[in-house]
Amino acid sequence: MKIYQFPCREDNYGVILSDPDSGFVASIDAPELEPIADVLEDKRLKLTHILTTHHHGDHVAANAALKAQHGCEIIGPAKEESKIPGIDRTADHGDVLDVQSHRIEVIGTPGHTLGQIAYYFPLKGVVFAADALFALGCGRIFEGDAAMMQTALQRLAALPDDTKIYAGHEYTLSNARFALSVDPTNESLLKRAREIELLRDEQKPTLPTTLTLEKQTNPFLRCSDPAIRANLGMETATDLEVFTELRSRKDRF
Ligand code: ZN
Ligand code: FE
Repeated sequence: MKIYQFPCREDNYGVILSDPDSGFVASIDAPELEPIADVLEDKRLKLTHILTTHHHGDHVAANAALKAQHGCEIIGPAKEESKIPGIDRTADHGDVLDVQSHRIEVIGTPGHTLGQIAYYFPLKGVVFAADALFALGCGRIFEGDAAMMQTALQRLAALPDDTKIYAGHEYTLSNARFALSVDPTNESLLKRAREIELLRDEQKPTLPTTLTLEKQTNPFLRCSDPAIRANLGMETATDLEVFTELRSRKDRF
């Protein structure tokens, strides 16, 4: 299965999956018509599916146009069915989809929105986490609460460590600055932050990432880390309290 990742809009990523054997061609979300249509045309692909993660406009903007052009099936979160343009089929946490012989496990990742889902391809070791887990960050909490978002991240963190993670946005540079503000002595983070600066200087993507790397460097997956806790003055707090504090600091950062 080939995976094409390309920039859309301001800072979104479009992702197209293509499996020549089965003819499966899927767009993970549909942030913007033109760049998606360009890739499809360039690779001579006919879109069979859109896998929608959540209802925000920057993730569903091209649903209707792509469906009109390709007649693709749109799968999206059950809890947001009424808000997903063109949706044909719903998916919810724990569902296992068999889409043109591809096994896809659906992981509920609420918090950013109440119904957001991630799509995990266990045989490929890849997850599409949209606006739940970013490189060095996590999604902003718009509809849910911190406990929901923490649960979402824990579900993703429970995947195998070598899982490749694709995310909805290129926010890594600003996420790195925040991460350094709460975890300034983390050697892995310092090294990664330098690498990210170089990549972004050349306008290269910092995604996909891996769970291993995120566990070493993403403060939102490191709420039990003694150095982060000491930095926040929260040595005896619960992980959820630390997570809540990190998320609200990031909102103000
Ligand atoms: Zn969003
Ligand atoms: Fe988004």
